[in-house]
Amino acid sequence: MSLKQHIAIVGGGWAGLAAAIELCKHGHTITLFESSPQLGGRARSIEWNDITLDNGQHLMLGAYQQMLECLNTIQADVKSLFKQLPHRMLILDAQTGSSAFDLQLPTYPAPLHLLFGVLNTPSLSVKEKLLLLLRFNKLLNTTITTDMNVTEWLSQAKLPARYIKNLLEPVCLAALTTHPNEASARAFQNVLQQTFNAPAEFTDLLIPTTDLNQVFPALAKEYILQQGGEIKTRHKVQQLQIEGSCIKSITVNDEVLCFDQVILAASPAASAKLLEKLQPCRNISLQINRLKYEPVATLYLHFKQAVSLPCPMTGIINGISNWVFERSLSGNDHLLAVVISAQGPHLEMPEENLVKTVYAELKHIINPLPELLKSKLIIEKRATFQCHPGVDNNRPGIDTGLSNLKLCGDYVYIEENNQPGLPSTLEGALCSGVKCAKSIVSKHN
Ligand SMILES: Cc1cc2nc3c(=O)[nH]c(=O)nc-3n(C[C@H](O)[C@H](O)[C@H](O)COP(=O)(O)OP(=O)(O)OC[C@H]3O[C@@H](n4cnc5c(N)ncnc54)[C@H](O)[C@@H]3O)c2cc1C
Repeated sequence: MSLKQHIAIVGGGWAGLAAAIELCKHGHTITLFESSPQLGGRARSIEWNDITLDNGQHLMLGAYQQMLECLNTIQADVKSLFKQLPHRMLILDAQTGSSAFDLQLPTYPAPLHLLFGVLNTPSLSVKEKLLLLLRFNKLLNTTITTDMNVTEWLSQAKLPARYIKNLLEPVCLAALTTHPNEASARAFQNVLQQTFNAPAEFTDLLIPTTDLNQVFPALAKEYILQQGGEIKTRHKVQQLQIEGSCIKSITVNDEVLCFDQVILAASPAASAKLLEKLQPCRNISLQINRLKYEPVATLYLHFKQAVSLPCPMTGIINGISNWVFERSLSGNDHLLAVVISAQGPHLEMPEENLVKTVYAELKHIINPLPELLKSKLIIEKRATFQCHPGVDNNRPGIDTGLSNLKLCGDYVYIEENNQPGLPSTLEGALCSGVKCAKSIVSKHN
């Protein structure tokens, strides 16, 4: 028997949209409420001087299988949405511009791509390359029984110090938005395994060729509306009302509305606020409130002339900048996006000094660097949750204990063969949204 449900989704970030798509696909009726004027949440577009930018430069990987599946469901033209580049890790020194590491992975099946990639690395001796491969393989495949921080974990691996400092630590910061001395070794190992012990294309970089809104939220909206769903932006869910062990109604913009099911897809802090008022969910709210957050700063630099990097995504060490992206791939060749992840001195710097410092760093790696016309700094203070050892204990699952209330979002823990949860990423958000929707579909289809 098919029991079609009317489901309210609270939050129009990537997790809420993924849940909505999955439910629409199975014939359920959804109404999605988003408090802000636009969809996308922490991965959205913004307007700046007639240029469409993103609230932060995002990078996706070939390993984002759930994202690719969602895009296929809504019949998006994936090939035109992303520039798919074979993995290249070019890391340059901010003070000299010299190459600190250059790893290019060929498109051979795993683990040959890693093998040949490392063997071709110019900055290492043959002995270093062989040692690196053996030890990296051991690091990747030895179970970590007691979690520890990444710095400690890497120091036990006896890898060349240069490799740790110039490659693995920057990659850890990018993947977990958490400094290696605070980041979970189990979570980092899981990310490395999912990327390297996998088909070669999983390591490919998927760089959006358009703004983030056009990559997913706008297409998701079109699909949901076509399927008869409703999307209400500028609609804030203020309260959930409980009766017995279910949600009886929700208050949205001061109006009380009833639904069969409710999916809470708001950010962790907003979800905790709504849950704390529900007595049976108070512990979940306390659990979420134990999460710590990390900021991500994106500095957009608009140059007088077209500007290009030695590699479309270039890593930088020994400076303030972490990664710099060519925005030519997203349609503007006068623009670069510099990403600085997690806590750091940049957060204390006056904006003018930060721009000057980053410009000086770029001067070492781009020659000649064109004149800077203007810049835009966006700091997202709670970009991701901090991925420290034991963080999964602070992440609730999909179920809340109330029969018709479920949670999704990048912070929600998805049990997968006793593996650590995914870090705070688009892929994590989409996986939780789809999984949450499937748990409703399996009961009602
Ligand atoms: C600057 C930056 C850079 C990043 N870089 C990357 C990257 O390179 N790669 C990657 O994979 N990930 C990256 N991330 C992480 C990624 O963006 C997030 O993991 C993902 O967007 C989280 O999606 P979500 O749907 O779980 O939550 P959110 O995006 O937080 O969505 C929640 C939504 O709920 C809405 N809401 C809140 N309260 C209410 C309410 N009461 N009623 C109605 N609506 C409500 C909010 O407005 C929001 O739209 C980055 C994040 C940032 C900020």
